[in-house]
Amino acid sequence: MISLVKTGLPTSDVLMPALEKVLYSGYIAQGTVVDEFENLFSDYIGNKFSVSVNSGTAALHIALILADVKEGDEVISTPLTAEPTNTVIGQTGAKIVWADIDSCTGNICPKDVERKITSKTKAIMTVDYAGIPIDIASFKKIEKRYKIPIIEDAAHALGAKFSNKKLGNHFRFTTFSFQAIKHMTTVDGGMICFRDKEDYEKAKLIRWFGLDKKKTRQDNDITVQGYKYHMNNVNAQIGITQLNRIHELVDPYIENGKYYDEELKGVEGVELLKYYPNSEPSYWLYTLKVENRGRFISKLAEHGIMASELHKRNDIHSIFSNSKTVLPNLDVFSKKMVHIPCGWWVTNEERQKIVNVIKNGW
Ligand SMILES: *Cc1c(COP(=O)(O)O)cnc(C)c1O
Repeated sequence: MISLVKTGLPTSDVLMPALEKVLYSGYIAQGTVVDEFENLFSDYIGNKFSVSVNSGTAALHIALILADVKEGDEVISTPLTAEPTNTVIGQTGAKIVWADIDSCTGNICPKDVERKITSKTKAIMTVDYAGIPIDIASFKKIEKRYKIPIIEDAAHALGAKFSNKKLGNHFRFTTFSFQAIKHMTTVDGGMICFRDKEDYEKAKLIRWFGLDKKKTRQDNDITVQGYKYHMNNVNAQIGITQLNRIHELVDPYIENGKYYDEELKGVEGVELLKYYPNSEPSYWLYTLKVENRGRFISKLAEHGIMASELHKRNDIHSIFSNSKTVLPNLDVFSKKMVHIPCGWWVTNEERQKIVNVIKNGW
């Protein structure tokens, strides 16, 4: 079966010596290896204000805290995402206000977001779903006009670009996840990229109980509520080894995605997604809208190809029932959407086979 998602680790001859060195160094907590990982990540993204944490969810939580989101506030968010994007809003006690998606991309619709802004709106949570950048130009305008911070959950979009600049450079907060099946894994981990140095400095306190690592315990005075969200040297060493071969990890997703963009154009029963001007997706998943999705999935399975919708629309979970609202674009999109394999493990022969099977109909 050609998988839809896969864990990509460096080969053991590369990873193990480096990992063993850290494991038996006597220092496995957060230390200089973490600093080195952050510096390499900053070089890759092009933003020096990067703070690593132990999950993408922790990264989102820190962004919400820095946006001053509290109980009684509202956060506008997208229902088309992995659940952590939204369960983390629950951690703050704020209410989720759903915005509908844009039918052409599956991403949160800036026009609907604007309609839903109230005096209680403290942040706007956006997701570059499946690796397609959100409408960054429109959201930049919204951020400026209403002075409401945008949190860009880029867990699916490592390496994606807008205006030739990687995601991680466009909003006050951009978060990434290094969970097992993302573009790049550190087993578990996350990163937040900031626009402002002040947020960057505060985030470093919040990820470590509110303690300043540059001072001794005796000299520390905790002034902000912190958490145990730091990354450790072990995960960071895996991250360094991954970043040393980051192009091997990310580029094949993009090459395969572009191949499907070309080869599946005009195929009967298939509707391709669109991309916003000046944006370059990193295709963590390749998403299509198809008629008769059940039959499409079975047909591909018969040929050894895994296809699935993967995510459930988040607004139908009971925990979010007091945010219920009508979302007509999502109603249609969520019935038609399906993802096909697109990552580094998909060979040229396999992607050609996938296209042929789809072209033959279902
Ligand atoms: C994976 C994921 C997260 C959470 O990341 P973790 O590292 O698993 O905490 C958040 N948002 C989206 C869209 C994700 O896919």
